[in-house]
Amino acid sequence: MKNIEEIKGIGLKTLEILKRIGINNTEDLINYFPYRYEIIKRSDIDKLNQDDKIIVDGIIENIPNVFYFNVKKNKMTFILNTGDKILNIIIFNRAFLKPRLKVGTNIIVIGKFDKKHNNIIASDIRFDQISEIPKIEGVYHSTSGLTGKQIKTFIDNLIKEKITVNDYLPNNLILKYKFLDKLLSIKEIHNPHNEDNLKRAITRLKYEELFLFMLQMNFLKMNKNKKMGIKRNVDYSEIEKFIKKLPFTLTNDQLKSTNDIYKDLNSNIKMNRLLQGDVGSGKTIVSIIAMYINYLSGYMSALMVPTEVLAKQHYENIKNLLKDFEINIVLLTGKMNKKSRYKAINDINEGLCQIIIGTHALITDNLNYHNLGLVITDEQHRFGVNQRNAFKNKGISPDILYMSATPIPRTYALTLYGDMDISNIKTLPNGRQLVNTILKSDKEIKEILEMMLEELKKNHQIYVIVPLIEESDKSELESVLEIYEKMNKAFGKYFVVDKLYGKMKVAEKEDVMRKFYENKTQILVSTTVVEVGVDVANATMIVIYDSYRFGLSTLHQLRGRVGRSNLPATCILISNKETKRLEILTKTNDGFLISEEDFKLRGSGDLFGVKQSGDMVFKIANIKQDYNLLLKAKEDSIEFLNNNFNINQIENENIKRVLEKVSNLD
Ligand code: ADP
Ligand code: MG
Repeated sequence: MKNIEEIKGIGLKTLEILKRIGINNTEDLINYFPYRYEIIKRSDIDKLNQDDKIIVDGIIENIPNVFYFNVKKNKMTFILNTGDKILNIIIFNRAFLKPRLKVGTNIIVIGKFDKKHNNIIASDIRFDQISEIPKIEGVYHSTSGLTGKQIKTFIDNLIKEKITVNDYLPNNLILKYKFLDKLLSIKEIHNPHNEDNLKRAITRLKYEELFLFMLQMNFLKMNKNKKMGIKRNVDYSEIEKFIKKLPFTLTNDQLKSTNDIYKDLNSNIKMNRLLQGDVGSGKTIVSIIAMYINYLSGYMSALMVPTEVLAKQHYENIKNLLKDFEINIVLLTGKMNKKSRYKAINDINEGLCQIIIGTHALITDNLNYHNLGLVITDEQHRFGVNQRNAFKNKGISPDILYMSATPIPRTYALTLYGDMDISNIKTLPNGRQLVNTILKSDKEIKEILEMMLEELKKNHQIYVIVPLIEESDKSELESVLEIYEKMNKAFGKYFVVDKLYGKMKVAEKEDVMRKFYENKTQILVSTTVVEVGVDVANATMIVIYDSYRFGLSTLHQLRGRVGRSNLPATCILISNKETKRLEILTKTNDGFLISEEDFKLRGSGDLFGVKQSGDMVFKIANIKQDYNLLLKAKEDSIEFLNNNFNINQIENENIKRVLEKVSNLD
């Protein structure tokens, strides 16, 4: 198969853009699937209503007229003769097509039908005729710098050549389910011949993905008890002493989780535990106790968090809690100045510290960990394959604790996190304020603004969340700007409004967050990039626009941004739709219950929170929608693993490679 840079149209710049969306080679490219399909079929114009979608073909009747608004913006109009109708075509910003739009040329026009004026506002023009057999066309996500259409062209150019694909399904399963051949499935998913083929291709690829996932999961599970970890000998009374000195009493669930971790750490089997608990349930202190146990037994601990702000916050917090001990705690982030960075790295490499707190720098910085016995990640999903290896140092394979604020229902947890043990913190610490959640419609905006003003007058801060709408004409920036300007108009005179969105540079984001943290900004308008886990105690209100666009778990997480102190907190959900579903949030604060509801009502996409990363991302399968397929994959993978003979067969060498990679993980 060709190299990716040999494909027509892919130059250095494009290569960079493709890398950004995870396409590094031709295999990644052919596995970049359409997210929806368009059926190219001639519309029956007489049956269309005003503003309906329309697809027609015909002949250009006159030389197109172009009107320029400015350098980039223009409007082109011409007349199309479809054989039995004469239509006016209007298309924006495609003046560059004019030389090809010669009188008499056959084209297809796709757009919106303005029936009243006999116009089509075109979104696409193709130099072709509609074939009599409806054609199914894949539509691909675009990314900044590349349209979905361009990506499609690359894929089509590649598929035209001779391509090879790796099949990860054992033959007996292909036979059992009468699956399409892998290569054919790949071809059909990009350029389906008909609906039936497309369905079969999708099922096959989904199943393959789920099978591979379950295979790795079950493989890890079956080998778990063989994995030797560090054996510690810490007396529980030491921990009790520590707990007694804390400024608060631990909740029962915190105690139970602590105990689970204590047992794991003291046993010689490697810990691989997930600590689940709602935002504010007090996971951090449990992780601190874990690090303390690890310290008592003479090992170093590393705590990795997703952002700089969060790293600093944890650093201060932990330093404060451990101030009576002679523990050197080191902060390492990507943004530190050279000198402190150098010192931190030196302390780590020389084993001069006992606790390290940091961002991704902990795995990207090529550190030489000294006696690293425990690795904890906060608000972060599981490490990717390569990342786990970063912690494997000097022959020690550290114990691992993952912390997550997006609980998932038990049945799913067992399937998906089969290789992990789970501890849950279900109750919030006593005296914690519940976030008062109110559902409002667009029309009540005046009342909402008044409530916001009341809050601002008390010197409190407010988050305003704008959903990111992937398929709309508006860009993320435009959506944020629209609300940002509204807020500025309402409050800008007396308060500072700021904005945060995904496409900003990391440094800019951190800067915005820091200003909000320091109360230099009072209102922060943001898409859901509001960093998970950041603690701005003075933020007491969160207003969420178009709430119906979010899953319940995400909304629950978002409202967890407020109510992080003893100040009363409010969450205002604005929505004109799906109010029944959203009402659940006004009635309960139980994250576990909410995630069950979410799972019943929506796909899983949401379950894994605002930030999903690592191994859990499926290209094509959806754990909720394809749950039955997942269960089959689970059974089949167990059966496959139980039959030792399988793995050594030539036909299964792709699978063998995957499993070898997995066994090198820990
Ligand atoms: P999360 O689970 O979201 O990470 P944190 O660990 O940040 O929650 O805890 C939220 C706040 O609650 C922190 O300020 C922490 O000090 C406090 N806290 C934790 N446990 C208790 C407790 N048992 N009693 C009172 N306050 C607690
Ligand atoms: Mg936390």
